[in-house]
Amino acid sequence: MIYLDHAAATPVSSKVFEAMKPYFSDEFFNPSAAYLPAKKVASEYEAAKGVIAHAIGAKASDLIMTAGATEANNLAFSAALFGDCLYLATEHDSVRKVADRHYSKEIIVDKNGRLVLDDLKAKMTDNVGLISIALVNNELGTIQPLSEVAAYIREVRADRLARGILQPLYLHSDASQALNLLNVNVARLGVDLLTLNAAKVYGPKGVGALYVSHNIKLLPIFVGGGQERGLRSGTENVPGVIGFAKAVEEAEKHKNGNRKKYAKWKKILLSQLQGYELINKKHSLDNFIVLCYIGIDAERLVFLLEDRGVCVSTGAACAANKGLRSHVLAAIGLSDSEINGSLRLTLGETNDESQIHEAARLINEVVAIERGRNA
Ligand code: PLP
Repeated sequence: MIYLDHAAATPVSSKVFEAMKPYFSDEFFNPSAAYLPAKKVASEYEAAKGVIAHAIGAKASDLIMTAGATEANNLAFSAALFGDCLYLATEHDSVRKVADRHYSKEIIVDKNGRLVLDDLKAKMTDNVGLISIALVNNELGTIQPLSEVAAYIREVRADRLARGILQPLYLHSDASQALNLLNVNVARLGVDLLTLNAAKVYGPKGVGALYVSHNIKLLPIFVGGGQERGLRSGTENVPGVIGFAKAVEEAEKHKNGNRKKYAKWKKILLSQLQGYELINKKHSLDNFIVLCYIGIDAERLVFLLEDRGVCVSTGAACAANKGLRSHVLAAIGLSDSEINGSLRLTLGETNDESQIHEAARLINEVVAIERGRNA
């Protein structure tokens, strides 16, 4: 199989799996229990949180561990309990749908999927409490200029303070797709809340975290035993968090080399593929390639490629699975026929260079078949 859908899921690496294993069996203890073996597990759990936090320039106590990025995004929006929200038109549904529970507006993006800062400024009011902008978009790989937004937010805060307006304003970013290849630092980005996702960094699925900077009041989604500072009750997922930490450690070691490798493979693909238009031309992460084959139904390409052992996607896995038109591709101004012809390839650690050549050959083959069918 040639797997080119690493934005949808990454396999748990063998190092991560090995690190997790003892915590399913010998080290199974509940970290809240009073006896010594449980206390040891509790301290290893905290140390793992410390590793994850360190990677983003934070402390273990700044992280609320969750069952994935969807939960972390939902929790982040509780910071704006009484405020309005702004979010990017290209956000993942786990942001869009929770934002819909608030008075919220979308910020438009340009044809590369980058936020239009002037639009954000035009939509800013004294009631806005939260702005949510993913650091890397999951369909295009677009990297957002978050520090520019953070600088603007600082101006808005100062202005509110001068006018005696008490509504706090926070910047949230979903960094699910970013941690694998980018250096993510909360202070440098200027974010107050940051979502992390183990499943996109060769860690386990259903494990994530929300970084919460000091003084932000959140309303827990789950109440109960009071774990994670009372913000996420439920017995800790010790193997999951240990695995997440190991995955983060590995990503830190390899991200620079991997970025270079994926950039090289992207070049190879783009030079060998035929008859496409590249959609994500600028500001996109090196492992994302979004192609448009005008006049071709990309869903058919996905099935034909699957027959040949190549896994690709037409967009976000969850939307593609429901046959929904991509709101991301619509937001960057693609027409319906361009959206229908769009294919997303995301490179990753399961690939090698020979697979890249073979994938290009097979994609060209199925595109030629479809063009012949339509002729
Ligand atoms: N946010 C982004 C940017 C994603 O890519 C995903 C998953 O595809 C999610 C959130 C949701 O993650 P999960 O399904 O692990 O909760």
